[in-house]
Amino acid sequence: MASSLMKTLIVRSSKLGTTRNLSSVTTQISNHTAKWMQDKSKKSPMELINEVPPIKVHGRIFACEGDSNPALGHPIEFICLDLKEPAVCKYCGLRYVQDHDH
Ligand SMILES: [Zn+2]
Repeated sequence: MASSLMKTLIVRSSKLGTTRNLSSVTTQISNHTAKWMQDKSKKSPMELINEVPPIKVHGRIFACEGDSNPALGHPIEFICLDLKEPAVCKYCGLRYVQDHDH
């Protein structure tokens, strides 16, 4: 989806004469993703985060910051835990489930 967006942007910008800058950005993006897929013996970041078991939390709403240290992590993300399946943080990919047994 992102690559088709980039193509659209390049087609549009070529009329404005800025094709060179944007096409180098496209190359960087594809190289960045490919970097994680070259070594088949290692797991991709997506696979690694999926191995982290869902975190049990009390309450219906949980605020995920990615890390307990505010200098690390990500902008605060409020996650609703009403659903049966684990809710996924859109920033860090950690999964959360509501803890009912208490
Ligand atoms: Zn998070």
